[in-house]
Amino acid sequence: MKRTADDRQQGGQDGLSRRDMLVGLGVTAAVVPLTQVASAQEPAAAPDAAITANPVVDLLDDHYRSESGNQFGSQVIHHGEMKGFQVTPISQDKASPTYQRPGNMNSPTVAPLLKKMMEIEGTELAVGAPCGMGMIAQTYLALLKPGDRVLTHRCNYDWVMTLFRNYLPSWGVKVEFLDFTNPENLAAALKANPAKVVHWEPYVNPTMEVLDSPVLISIAKKAGALVVLDNTWLTPYLFQPARLGADLVIHSVTKYVGGHGNAMGGVVSGRKDLVGKIGQAQSWLGGLMRPMDAFLITQGIKTLPLRMRQHCRNAQAVAEFLEEHPAVARVRYGGLKSWNRLEYLRGFGGMIGVEWKSTSVHRNLGHHVKLIINKTSLGDPVTRITNRRVEKNRGIPGNYTRVSIGLEEPHDIIADFKQAIECCVR
Ligand code: PLP
Repeated sequence: MKRTADDRQQGGQDGLSRRDMLVGLGVTAAVVPLTQVASAQEPAAAPDAAITANPVVDLLDDHYRSESGNQFGSQVIHHGEMKGFQVTPISQDKASPTYQRPGNMNSPTVAPLLKKMMEIEGTELAVGAPCGMGMIAQTYLALLKPGDRVLTHRCNYDWVMTLFRNYLPSWGVKVEFLDFTNPENLAAALKANPAKVVHWEPYVNPTMEVLDSPVLISIAKKAGALVVLDNTWLTPYLFQPARLGADLVIHSVTKYVGGHGNAMGGVVSGRKDLVGKIGQAQSWLGGLMRPMDAFLITQGIKTLPLRMRQHCRNAQAVAEFLEEHPAVARVRYGGLKSWNRLEYLRGFGGMIGVEWKSTSVHRNLGHHVKLIINKTSLGDPVTRITNRRVEKNRGIPGNYTRVSIGLEEPHDIIADFKQAIECCVR
């Protein structure tokens, strides 16, 4: 049975309440305002009215601390930019006393993006890579050694699963997959044996499970493990795990952070000692973010708050439409009470999962969509669908489609789903 926020408030591992665990970690200040804000948004009326009046969206910056004194929307535009330039130039100048490979932070084009990411995540240091997977692989190449133990949720992004299932074990690292939807599974595994790293995605690709990250962070930290979160889907606009104690936060900035599907990149930010080690490894071994990608992503990040608000509004409206549709068995979206009751996040972005009643809709929808694109990727302005095969051990059901809701008018996205479904059931 799915546990709710209320259940978890009552008691967690070792009889501690969720709040006790968070207080123990010293994260109350960061969590309380979000919980208050989230609980103020009752009850949902018509989709559009509810979304427009959503205090979660309007109060996003209320606790935001920044060295510059500016709030999130101003930081992503101004912070880290080079003085004297209206737009950060693309520079391939010598990046260090030697040459371009060592040190992303010395690149005049990459550094502004990394500085923005550090400031909005609330971290000490950041380095970049050519894509999200490159960043995740480099992180573990730099930090793990044979004999280390990694604990992770049973489902992550596909190629992270490949890294965990195939590559890390071949280097002598033991990876165990648990069901993190019940945080007590993590507590029990850590009680049995220590782990070097605990890794998860707070809003899981592609199952849309919303994991209780504040509680999971608290459990992992108490057991002395390094906490690594892949925050690609939520972005720092919706969740800032380092402020709750995560040691490292990883992004594929190819997705929402860049936001236009025109560039690739990965960023890890977090504790100086750890990110420094990763930066050192990439200086020697290669795999840096390219100035051209950094240039494009730096332009994209400036509209992150505007885009994320629109992704949230559109996804909520489409999820509510699909939930009522007779062809649909279940919609998985963090913003639906029928799917998720955890309230620590400020929003859920644009990713939706749809379980169809019939195989024919699942199989044929892609042939009939007109506006929506039947091609894999996510986090850009275009609404996309991707069919998934059943994978029971990862919690991926049958007849399942992952949807990345874009920035089109929600009316048009809904109309396209409607006509395409009708073509499939006709
Ligand atoms: N992490 C998550 C959650 C993703 O969804 C993806 C890609 O979809 C990645 C990492 C990998 O990103 P990239 O394609 O930039 O390597």
